[in-house]
Order: sequence, then structure tokens, then C-alpha cells
Amino acid sequence: MKAWAKGLVLGGGLALLVLAVLSGLDMTILLFPLSLLALGALLIHGRGGLTSRFAPARLGGEESSVPAVTFSQIGGQETAKRELLEALTFLKESSRTKQLGIRPLKGVLLVGPPGTGKTLMAKAAANYTASVFLAASGSQFVQMYAGVGASRVRQLFKQARTMAERANKPSAIIFIDEIDVLGAKRGKNVSHLEYDQTLNELLTQMDGIESGEDVQILVVGATNRADLLDPALLRPGRFDRIVQVELPDKAGRLHILNIHAANKPLAADVCLEQIAAETHGFSGAHLENLLNEAAITALRDGRQEITQADLREAVEKVMLGEKSSRLLQKEERERVAYHEVGHAVIGELVRPGSVASITIVSRNRALGYIRQASQDDQYLYTKDQLLQAIQVCVAGAVMEEIIFGQRSTGAANDIEQAVSLAKRMVFAGLSPLGIVSSDLPAAELNAAVVQIIQEQEKQVRKILSSRVDEVRSIAAHLLREETMNGDEFRLLLEAKQAS
Ligand code: ATP
Repeated sequence: MKAWAKGLVLGGGLALLVLAVLSGLDMTILLFPLSLLALGALLIHGRGGLTSRFAPARLGGEESSVPAVTFSQIGGQETAKRELLEALTFLKESSRTKQLGIRPLKGVLLVGPPGTGKTLMAKAAANYTASVFLAASGSQFVQMYAGVGASRVRQLFKQARTMAERANKPSAIIFIDEIDVLGAKRGKNVSHLEYDQTLNELLTQMDGIESGEDVQILVVGATNRADLLDPALLRPGRFDRIVQVELPDKAGRLHILNIHAANKPLAADVCLEQIAAETHGFSGAHLENLLNEAAITALRDGRQEITQADLREAVEKVMLGEKSSRLLQKEERERVAYHEVGHAVIGELVRPGSVASITIVSRNRALGYIRQASQDDQYLYTKDQLLQAIQVCVAGAVMEEIIFGQRSTGAANDIEQAVSLAKRMVFAGLSPLGIVSSDLPAAELNAAVVQIIQEQEKQVRKILSSRVDEVRSIAAHLLREETMNGDEFRLLLEAKQAS
């Protein structure tokens, strides 16, 4: 029954009841049948609610249910795109694959960190193969009650077939994000009956995909925890194609920045290559957000174009969060300035040109920070490079000690990083202990870590003590300006060295 008709019947019924009560009729006799009716309505509505609440995304409505995203809108990820495109051939050229007797590919699993473009890839796959696209998330399936998830899986496959038939498309792509929620190893979950039934139903539905069907279905799963998945999901004939979607490298980041900058007016001073170099570890989603934040800053300042300074500010905002309104006392502010300049001086000495910015404007938990950038992404570190990185970490605390006579709690995070780098050295066999096994006793590990860090502190103390004048003048500048970029910092450093 249509909603308006239901409303009319209910409203009319209620009005009659009120009239009857007002005219003094005894209504107790009606109580039992009325409560039965109400219970029935609740059950019917409840079932409807269960199913209607689960509504996989129908992108663009039924008529245009093929998403508009294309592979050219996905930056970087060249290997992942190539592997996915290869896997899609069977949908693209179904008559040839049928002729060769190739069994249809039923599932492709995209594995990678959040925001790297897995959903985009699935949509682009649907666009490329002119398939209808349905998206659902693993957490939508799993409920408290056994059987609900399984019926939702059935419903999803049915809906995919119906949508494709209505849109007159030969294929459908079902995208299941967070597939680890419903596809975790069986028997591992607390309410495992429901989880297991849901997973079993997914396996059954995937097994039921046949070549030669009117609507060919491809399931694309996405996860960042492939290790959690039940082996049955990964066996041939199910998700037998695994495509790794990694964080983008520098060229990938530049590509993504260019894609998202295409609809934004950039000022002549913008160098996206520089921004790509400064954003190691950013995902595609971070980079999209960065450009958006930069555009918001330009709008807020009433400018028509986005400048390099807007982009740099956005890098920091995405990395460290919004500026905080916390006011530091004079001595604290000075301590933060010297601490950061200590990091920057050593950072520049060990890797010339690496300091991208220094600031004492606090954001979230950081009272101040320096940002270092590298021209190329690095995946391997030598012993010297790890020792230098430890020097940069401890330089802030050592600088505080030289200027103020003692350290503060502000260095806790730096020490944590230095310890983690030192441990990395130990387990890579780069410490004086040589090769060690992973069950090295804690006391020995601790002693080795402390020794490595203390030696670097000694060296840093020697360097910084001989440069106190430079440090003082740069810190004074930083206290006045609050922020300086790498070039300004290098100018000051060189000017002081020359004088
Ligand atoms: P999650 O694992 O959190 O679901 P995901 O890997 O599915 O994330 P997407 O939803 O595809 O990530 O990406 C989110 C947004 O980030 C996209 O809408 C897009 O704006 C941007 N983005 C991510 N990766 C890329 C990329 N490779 N190229 C262009 N834009 C990207």
C-alpha cells in the first residue's frame, strides 16, 4: 500500500476511535483485536525496515547506474590499474572468453590503506565494462541476529541482476568495502554464527556465478587487512585476483594533485611538484583534501587564485590538524622556538635542503614543528641515514638543554621516534650487537637502544653548542614571525655562517 493510503487509513481509524471514546462508548472490548493488529503491523513494518534500511548505493539512479568515474581520473596506481584492467577483459570480451571456455572471473580483491582509491577503481571498472554498480560495506551485513546478513547477501546479488536487466546491461559489479568485516576467518568472531552464515552465503552466491548467464556478475572486495580474510574467500574461483593498491609515490602524488587541481584556479607561483615532494605518506584522499583546504583558504582571504602558500598551509593542516587557539606563556613559546630551530639546524646539516618549514604555531597536540621534505621517496635506509634521523629527533631536547639548562616534556614524542629508529637499527643488524634474533632479551635491547641514542646526543650537543649564535638569531626571527619556510630558514642560516 502506498504511504499516503496507509496514512489515510490510520488517520481515519484514529479519528473514529477518538469520536467513539468521546461519545462514551466502552472500548475495552476492542483492546484485544487492536493489539493483535498493532503487533502484526509492527512485524510487517519491522521486516520491511530491516530490508529497506539496507540500501546499497545506486550511483546515479537506475537508468544511469553505470558510474561516471574513469580510469583516467585515478592518479598513480599504474600497476594496480593495469592488473585490474587485465582482470576485466573477461567482462569486456565475454563472447571471446566463452568461446575459449574460460571460466568467468568472479572476484577481485583490492588491498590497500584507506583513501588510496579502491572505491574509485571499482567504479572505474564498472564504467570501463559498462556494468551497473552496486556498493555495500561489510558492516552493513553483519547484525546481531543470525540469518539477517545472509539474506542481505542474497538480496544484494538479486538486486544486481535486476538492476542490470532493467538498465539493459550485460553485467553488474558488486563492490563490497571493508570485506574483512564479513569475510573474516570463520569461527573467530564472538557472535560467529551470524558472521559465518553471512560469509557462507557470500561464498555460495559467488559459486553460483556461471558463465553464459544473462547478467554476468563480478564482485570487487576492498580491505586493508587481507590477512584477516577466511582462506575460503581467497581460493581460486572466488577472490582469486588480488590487486595491491599502495600509497602513491612522488610521481603518483603529482598525478593525483594535477587531477584534483584541474578545476581550481592556481596562481603562477604554484609548483605542484614541490607539494608532491613534501607529501610523502599522503593518500589520494589526503591530497584531494589538501587542494580543497587550500581553495578554502583562498576563498576565506577573498582571493581568486590558490597560491603556493595556501597549499603549504594546507599540507600542514592535513598532516597535523587545525591551528589551535592555545596561548603559550612567554618562556614556553621561547622554549618551543629553540627546540624547533635545534631540529631544523641538524636536519639541514644532515640533509641539505630538506627543511620545508618551521613553525611555533600550535596545531592539535604539536606546540611547534618542523617539516622535512625529500626530493625522492625512500624505501631503504643505511646505518648512517638512520643515525642522522636519530640526530634530528634528539636535537630539539639537546637545544633546550643548551639554552635553558634542562629539557622538558616537549621532547617525549621525539624520544619515542628516536627509540623506534634505534630498534629498527638493532633488528636490521646495524647496531654494535650485529645480527640479533627477534627474541633478543628486553634488557639487552634497551641497553643497545640507549647506547645508540646517547652517542647521537653527544654528537648533536657538540654541533649545536658551536652554533648557539646562529640558533639565537634564527629563534628570534621565528619568535617574531611564528612561521618560516625552508628557503627563509636557509637564507638566515647562510647569512649567519657568512658573517
Ligand atoms: P577506504 O579504504 O577508506 O574506503 P578507498 O581506498 O576506497 O578508501 P576512495 O574512496 O576511492 O578510497 O578515495 C577517496 C577519495 O580520495 C576519492 O573520492 C578521491 O577524491 C581521492 N582519491 C583517492 N585515491 C585517488 C587517486 N588514486 N586518484 C585520484 N583521487 C584519489
